[in-house]
Amino acid sequence: MSVRGRFAPTPSGRMHLGNLLAALLAWLDVRSQGGVMVLRIENLDTQRTSLELARQVADDLTWLGLDWDEGGVEPDWCQSERGEYYQAAFDRLEKMGLIYPCYCSRAERLAANAPHRADGSVVYDGRCARLTPEQRLALERSGRRSAWRIRVPEEQVTVVDGHLGPYTEYLPRDCGDFILRRSDGVWAYQLAVVVDDALMGINHVVRGADLLPSAPRQAWLHRTLGFKPPRFFHLPLLVDPSGRRLAKRDRDLDMSVLRQRYTPRELTGYLAWLAGLLPERKSVEPAQLIPLFSWGKVPKTEIVIPAP
Ligand code: GLU
Repeated sequence: MSVRGRFAPTPSGRMHLGNLLAALLAWLDVRSQGGVMVLRIENLDTQRTSLELARQVADDLTWLGLDWDEGGVEPDWCQSERGEYYQAAFDRLEKMGLIYPCYCSRAERLAANAPHRADGSVVYDGRCARLTPEQRLALERSGRRSAWRIRVPEEQVTVVDGHLGPYTEYLPRDCGDFILRRSDGVWAYQLAVVVDDALMGINHVVRGADLLPSAPRQAWLHRTLGFKPPRFFHLPLLVDPSGRRLAKRDRDLDMSVLRQRYTPRELTGYLAWLAGLLPERKSVEPAQLIPLFSWGKVPKTEIVIPAP
C-alpha cells in the first residue's frame, strides 16, 4: 500500500525550527517511498488561529521547497470547516454509550489532586461520569455548560512507533477519559485528528515526540470507530543547550527571522544536519536528501540546538 503522509500545522503563529524539522521529515518519509503528501490545516480553534497564518505556513513550506499533492488552505482541508465529519463520529461514539457530559471547570480539574501526566496535563478522575441524571439537571439549571468526554476502557494500548519503538499506556491510569468537544463547542484535537487521518487515508503520521502520549488514545479511537490506525513516527524534540524545549516564544527561531538569516538551501541543510542526514552543515535542496533519508539515521533522543 502506498504511503500517505501529511503536514498538519496549527496556524497559531509562524512556524519555528521544530515544526520545520517535522515537516521536512514527513516530506522525506513520503517522497522516499513515492507516496502522497497531504497538507491539512488544524484550525479548530478559530480564536487562536487564522487563515492568514495558514497561508503564511503554506508559503513558508513552499519557500523551503516542500510541496504537497493534496490539500492546502482550502475549506475541505481546514478543520474549521469539517465539523459535520466530527459530529458524525461523535454521534457514533455516543450511540456506543461512550460519551458523557463533563461540567468540571479547569480549576476544579486541577484541584482534584489527580495524577499529572509527563506533559503537565491532568488525568481526569472521571467524576462527571458518576453524576446522576438529577445532578446533571441541577448543574444545567445552574447555567453550567458541559464539555463532552469519552470514557476510556480498562485497556492497555501499545503503539509501535516506527522510529521510537513500542510505547504503552494503560488508558484509565495514564490517559483518563478525554475531551472530544469543549464546552464552547470547539471540537477537540484528539477527535478531529483521528477522523481526518482516517477520512484522508493517512497511513503515516510523522510529528514531534511531544505528541507521543496522544498516540495510544488516538490508535484506540481509530479502532473504536472502525478505522485502521496509521503508523506513527515521532521525532525527537529540539532543546537549547540547557535542555529547555524550544517553543514558539523563541522568536529568533521562527520563520520570520529564519527566512532573513538563511537561504532555503542553507536552512534545509541545517535541518538535515540536525536530523543526522548530513555529516556537516551544507546547502542542499530537499530533493537531494531523498536518497539519503532513513529513519535509522535520525536521533531518538532530544536534539540540542547549538547557541546561534
Ligand atoms: N497540529 C499539530 C501541531 O501543529 C500537529 C498534530 C499532529 O501531527 O497530529 O503541532
